Amino acid sequence: MGLTLKWSVDKLNTVRFGITIATLVGLALLSYFSLRRLHETTRQVRQAHQTLEQIDLVMSHLKDAETGQRGYLLTGNQQYLQPYDEATGKIVPELELLATLVRDRPAQAQRLTEMQSRVQAKVFNMGQTIELRQTQGFEAAQKIVEIGRGKQLMDEIRAIATVLRSEQRLLLDQRTSYEEQQGDLATWITVGSVVLQILLITGIILQLNREARSLRESNQKLERYTHGMEQLVNAVQKLSMARDLDTILTVVKQAARELTGADGATLVLREQDQCYYIEENAIAPLWKGERFPIDQCISGWAMQNRQAAVIEDILQDARIPQEVYQQTFVKSMVMVPIRTMQPIGAIGNYWVEPHQPQVDQVKLLQALADTTAVAIENVQVYAELEERIQQRTAELHQLNGVLLRSNQELEQFAYVASHDLQEPLRTVASYTELLAKKYRGQLDEKAEKYINYVVDGASRMQQLINDLLMYSRVGRQTLQLTPVDCNQVVQQVCKTLEIGISENNATITYDPLPTVLADVTQLTQLVQNLIGNAIKYRGEDPPVIHITATQQATEWVFSIQDNGIGIDPQYTDRIFILFQRLHTRRKYSGTGIGLAICKKIVELHQGRIWVESQVGQGSTFYVALPDRYEPQAEVLLEAMV
Ligand code: ADP
Repeated sequence: MGLTLKWSVDKLNTVRFGITIATLVGLALLSYFSLRRLHETTRQVRQAHQTLEQIDLVMSHLKDAETGQRGYLLTGNQQYLQPYDEATGKIVPELELLATLVRDRPAQAQRLTEMQSRVQAKVFNMGQTIELRQTQGFEAAQKIVEIGRGKQLMDEIRAIATVLRSEQRLLLDQRTSYEEQQGDLATWITVGSVVLQILLITGIILQLNREARSLRESNQKLERYTHGMEQLVNAVQKLSMARDLDTILTVVKQAARELTGADGATLVLREQDQCYYIEENAIAPLWKGERFPIDQCISGWAMQNRQAAVIEDILQDARIPQEVYQQTFVKSMVMVPIRTMQPIGAIGNYWVEPHQPQVDQVKLLQALADTTAVAIENVQVYAELEERIQQRTAELHQLNGVLLRSNQELEQFAYVASHDLQEPLRTVASYTELLAKKYRGQLDEKAEKYINYVVDGASRMQQLINDLLMYSRVGRQTLQLTPVDCNQVVQQVCKTLEIGISENNATITYDPLPTVLADVTQLTQLVQNLIGNAIKYRGEDPPVIHITATQQATEWVFSIQDNGIGIDPQYTDRIFILFQRLHTRRKYSGTGIGLAICKKIVELHQGRIWVESQVGQGSTFYVALPDRYEPQAEVLLEAMV
């Protein structure tokens, strides 16, 4: 819409400009041609004058020649021949000049030709008489004169000259009157075009003035709008970070006034059927802290009608409670609802002078009000969330306490049970072994098989109890963090597992390993479990085990790689859970506690443990230990155990 309007305004201006230029060019051409015609007519008038003068000149020369001739004929005095010669000498060139002047009029040119032939004859005739006078005397010449040929020629010449003159005069009259007409026309055209040009230029100046004014106005409007937008963006940024109502009120009361350059701003919140004027920022006090019934104030009107109230003159508006406003500076105002769906308040702008609030000002204010609504909702949501988090944290604390207690009780129970079970179990095992030894060969085959089952079961149970005690001990002991040289740990483990290593013909190699802060007993237990498993879960080939350590951003990552049977990737998480095994006891002995102990040790050290493996391709166990502990970590560690 705006674009089409702009385009048509541009087009209109182009058309106007085109018409102006065309008119100016037309006027210039008209003046040019009319002046040219005037100039031509003037030239023709001048030519007519010149022609008349030229005819007179020719006739005058003829007359002079004739006078000279007569004088000489009568007196025989040579003196008279001088003017005669002068006159006849000039006649021919003057006649030629006359011929060029009438060249463009064929009838006159024809007449002039006739005149020229008669003039020649006349000159010849005069020459003849003079010659006769000189050679044969006065009578001889008189005879020729008396024939009357010379007079006749002169009469004819005069007659032609008269016709030529009258024609030229007629022509002169025509041309003079035409020249006057052309002169008038040229004058009118010039005056007309000057007037028109003045009008056009005045029009253009007026138009330019108008456009400059409207450009200035749009510039001012744009500047005001840009300033408002900057304020709005500023306010939106601050509101988006506001976490309480006080911050919102502070931001909004400042922005509401600066946005439009108003003399005052108020922030109103709805409280059921009351409008609470909670904040204001104005050149003089308004109604801060007061409450008005919703149907008796303009903020209430804006909320109930869910639209802005734009009032140029408050005295003329029935919605305004005059007695409330009489005490204030307000002459004009705008009130916009905070949120148009179910308004929760309103924002007002006030002016001390009568002011027509602009559409863009109302829009900016409404945008601020909408943002305020979102900010208030956010604050409510945050408050609710915070309350819920506090509630939840308290619940968790409580639950944690319960869990911790029951965990401790459980561990205590497991420890006591395992510990107390050891003694009777040891009795069962040793007496069953004694029984088996003493009655070997005396009992039947079945009884011996049963005794063997009991011996085997008792020893497995002993192993299980030992492992469980170990697991439980790991959780109960306090971590003693000291710098531990991992090379020494590996060497110690190799010594402990010496028999297994040599029986299986295993090779254990390791890169230079770091010294880390750890509990040496637990770290040794961890490495022993992992190397022990790498030997136990060997493949066809003798076990080859390699240990490395790499430093990452905040931790050391150890790897223990073997060439054993490998693990199906789908079970790589499960194997770290207590009692989880992937094989039957018959195939590989064990209790399914070893890796659970490893995981517990690593977690107590705030580290991680995982495995990467494929069936038949060996396994690599990784242990990541932090390279330093935060000061409170030790406290935490103590709290955890
Ligand atoms: P246990 O060895 O007593 O069965 P663990 O907790 O030490 O218990 O191991 C759990 C299971 O993880 C084992 O039963 C075995 O299937 C698998 N496992 C552990 N280490 C390896 C390894 N190096 N290679 C292949 N499988 C392994």
